[in-house]
Amino acid sequence: MNYYNQEVETMHHDKLKLLQLDRIRLVVKKVYDNVEPYREKMRAIGIRPADINDLSDIEHLPFTEKQDLRDNYPLGMLSVPNSEIVRVHTSSGTTGQRSAVGYTQADLDAWADVMARSLVAGGCTKDSIVHNAYGYGLFTGGLGANNGSERLGAMTLPVSGGNTSQQLQLLKDFKADTICCTPSYALYLADEMKKQGYDIKDLALKRGIMGAEPWTEEMRQEIEKRLGLKAYNIFGLSEIMGPGVAMECSQQNGMHIWEDHFLPEIIDPKTKKVLPNGSQGELVLSNLTKTGMPLLRYRTRDITSLDDTACPCRRTHIKMNPLVGRSDDMLIISGANVYPSQIESVLLSSELADYIEPHYLIVVDRENNRDRMEVKVEVKEEMVGASEAIANRIRHNVTSATGISAKITLTPPNTIQRSQGKAVRVMDNRKNGANGINGVHEKEGG
Ligand code: ADP
Ligand code: ZN
Repeated sequence: MNYYNQEVETMHHDKLKLLQLDRIRLVVKKVYDNVEPYREKMRAIGIRPADINDLSDIEHLPFTEKQDLRDNYPLGMLSVPNSEIVRVHTSSGTTGQRSAVGYTQADLDAWADVMARSLVAGGCTKDSIVHNAYGYGLFTGGLGANNGSERLGAMTLPVSGGNTSQQLQLLKDFKADTICCTPSYALYLADEMKKQGYDIKDLALKRGIMGAEPWTEEMRQEIEKRLGLKAYNIFGLSEIMGPGVAMECSQQNGMHIWEDHFLPEIIDPKTKKVLPNGSQGELVLSNLTKTGMPLLRYRTRDITSLDDTACPCRRTHIKMNPLVGRSDDMLIISGANVYPSQIESVLLSSELADYIEPHYLIVVDRENNRDRMEVKVEVKEEMVGASEAIANRIRHNVTSATGISAKITLTPPNTIQRSQGKAVRVMDNRKNGANGINGVHEKEGG
């Protein structure tokens, strides 16, 4: 079994808890002393750093919301003077205004370490050749994966997003065994590979380190089949660090959250009460080691659950299950809640695999005061004639999975826009979209 830092990754969980307590106390004191918005929040609820004596006491600490970062944009939440900051990143702005994050050199070092740890959990070694197709720039994906790969000592190709023909050529020339990219880009790459006459044997890919957007188990299987690799789920967010907050191991069933750096909780988004392990709710993360801009109880708006059962890989760090989605992506259609991932599971199920391509778009409208959901999905070339029967089957399956009757539109192959970064799965055209997002945003993330 391969670890990057065996001692930490397999540390007894009780010891890990003690480490977390020591670290969170330092962070609380640091932000209380140095960050005005935190001091105000803590004073308002009458809590002081000395009140944190047990991990359960963190329930009394204030939350940090996306809006706090927006209100203090760009760098009003730093715990150190600007002169200590060596790098700035921003979030991708998927759900609105971007937030900015400042990193000290120590933060960049810790990030490279957790990212290196993540790559090793996915099977990389110092002998790996890593083709990094996450976008370089303000988006954390590119530089985050890059620096972790270099920290590990792997041969790193800083390819960035876009220019797919060149990517294929590079994959062939350098024989990378590892590709880092979003799951939707992996599918796009597989499409282009076929179109441009490459054979899977021209490439030497063994594994993909894939994240930055929600994807289902069905999508994983499709990617693994088409690219002939193992696809591992990696999770991260810029506000907390970037990619490498959590990563799957060889088990491919949940991502170990690196608990010596990040403290996870799951809350009920409505009552804001902490839920027991196993319950589904909103992921809340606190930084334990960040020095530039540590955040307390950051509400990620990502919906998942924690899994504290022992993992055969012997890593002791708690796992988070694949994300159901972002609470912002939850559609409320005629009063019922639907996540795009529920529809993806239906479309990519083995039952439909012979008939449709894994490219889809969900369009929501309001007509005569009634919500209407349309699912557009590409039909396979050879199936174009049989569309009606296929559409009926999909309609039936979507209704049983979500309780909603959707209009199913089958479109010819290659008609739904491909994503080079984070995929856009939903177009909500309702004037006052129930989830507040309308239409398509411009995003990076490739
Ligand atoms: P933005 O929130 O604007 O997209 P980031 O680039 O920081 O900004 O992206 C972080 C977000 O991306 C996470 O909060 C989560 O919603 C999503 N994400 C990252 N990794 C994964 C993953 N493995 N599965 C599902 N969603 C993910
Ligand atoms: Zn494991």
